[in-house]
Amino acid sequence: MADRAIRLPGYFPGETYLNAKRIIEAAKSVDCDAIHPGYGFLAESSDFSRACRENGLKFIGPTPETLVISGNKLACKKLAESKGVPVVPYSHEAVSSIEEAIRFSKEIGFPVLLKSAFGGGGRGIRDARNEDELRQGFESAKREAQSSFGRFSIFIEKKLVNPRHIEVQIIASDDSNEFVHLGERDCSIQRRYQKLIEMSPSPVVDEDIRKKISTLAVTTAKATGYSNAGTVEFLRDSETGNFYFMEINSRLQVEHPVTELVTGVDLVATQIRIASENKLPFRQRDVKFQGCAIECRINAEDPFLNFAPTTGKIDFLNLPGGPGIRVDTALQRGIEISPYYDSLVAKLIAVGRNFEEARKRVLIALDEFSIVGIKTTVPFHRAVLKDERFSRGEFDTGFVQSLGLSERIHSKFDNDYFIIAALLLSKNQFSTMIENSTEERERRPAWLIDNRNGRFIDGI
Ligand code: ADP
Ligand code: ADP
Ligand code: MG
Repeated sequence: MADRAIRLPGYFPGETYLNAKRIIEAAKSVDCDAIHPGYGFLAESSDFSRACRENGLKFIGPTPETLVISGNKLACKKLAESKGVPVVPYSHEAVSSIEEAIRFSKEIGFPVLLKSAFGGGGRGIRDARNEDELRQGFESAKREAQSSFGRFSIFIEKKLVNPRHIEVQIIASDDSNEFVHLGERDCSIQRRYQKLIEMSPSPVVDEDIRKKISTLAVTTAKATGYSNAGTVEFLRDSETGNFYFMEINSRLQVEHPVTELVTGVDLVATQIRIASENKLPFRQRDVKFQGCAIECRINAEDPFLNFAPTTGKIDFLNLPGGPGIRVDTALQRGIEISPYYDSLVAKLIAVGRNFEEARKRVLIALDEFSIVGIKTTVPFHRAVLKDERFSRGEFDTGFVQSLGLSERIHSKFDNDYFIIAALLLSKNQFSTMIENSTEERERRPAWLIDNRNGRFIDGI
């Protein structure tokens, strides 16, 4: 959709989107004024932000000085704590030995989490319910911190039992003088500490709570000298309803569309305006919240096979549409999904007057969503969105595991679905999608079309 595109040579992220020098060269070659770093790769890199500055390019995001603080979970927690923002008990310094880790964990009590101070995307987090698990997790957490984030620094934090993940979207002027919040997002539907479904508003946040947590968010962001768009993440203790600061994500987030749909604010356009004009284009009192939006991350992963990443060519694609439906994607028929990048291939977002309307719209859209050629998380989303507890807004970060979903879908896949599919095929109610390619048929032996309505039944 860009007016001009420059291809970066190479395949691996290190050669392309993680290569600051190449990106800056490309930007200069076409006289760019500024760089929007997106939400992966170098988006939170203080070095990249600095390199832009040194090359006369405006980095659309916080200053390198702020990024140094926000990129360090430990430093950020200390700063938040010093401003009176609640945090869960944590080791104030990085732990360097297993003895130290055990001593501290006993002090705050198990269960605990081991986290990389410079981590992100759910990677490098280890769970320990007791000393044994801590011993096991410690070395691998250290290794992962080193291999993924280039630094050993890991710390310990008290683990809350099945909290909710609730985050606040903030935006600040370039000189960090004006701050506005755009409400919260509930991102509690996660697997392995990674978000899969997000929504705004949260079913457990009312106006009073929103006021409270947005104040905590702005206080924390201000302390880091924040500018441009950012997200302040909190955990909500399911027992007490108390909120604890977790980290700042100093960039646009994957789940930003849900905020855009309930506030009517185009976050990316706002980011660009802030970078070019310094001022915020609106004030807090101009921000109005309307309705509810839900986002499903469509990943190229097989929910029937423990979410293993899948690759392949997109043979057929039908994207849903209609009132209240937004699909953010670069998918096209014929393109190849390679193993080189993140597995996120599309985001399906629905907005409605309330949670129930948004939920129903997502479900309809999921039925219309057909991708042939790769496995996706579409069936997973369908299962969650149809769940009764989810429909009542009763969910937390333990929800996905409590469903025993991958096993449940798996056994369906192995038994009943297969038998039903065979029966329906024999009665001519269904036909297989690809009939003339043996090779394809072997890969997906029973990809079905329902002859009565032409719908695809995926995942069978
Ligand atoms: P976090 O989980 O840290 O809060 P988000 O949920 O906003 O972050 O997701 C940001 C994510 O961007 C990273 O965790 C990563 O999964 C994703 N990302 C990284 N590289 C790419 C890429 N090439 N394409 C799409 N997404 C990417
Ligand atoms: P990342 O940078 O990888 O996003 P976070 O610190 O934001 O790491 O944590 C990711 C997820 O892990 C959270 O969304 C939450 O589900 C879970 N989590 C993090 N800290 C805790 C905690 N102290 N207790 C329980 N769950 C936690
Ligand atoms: Mg996080």
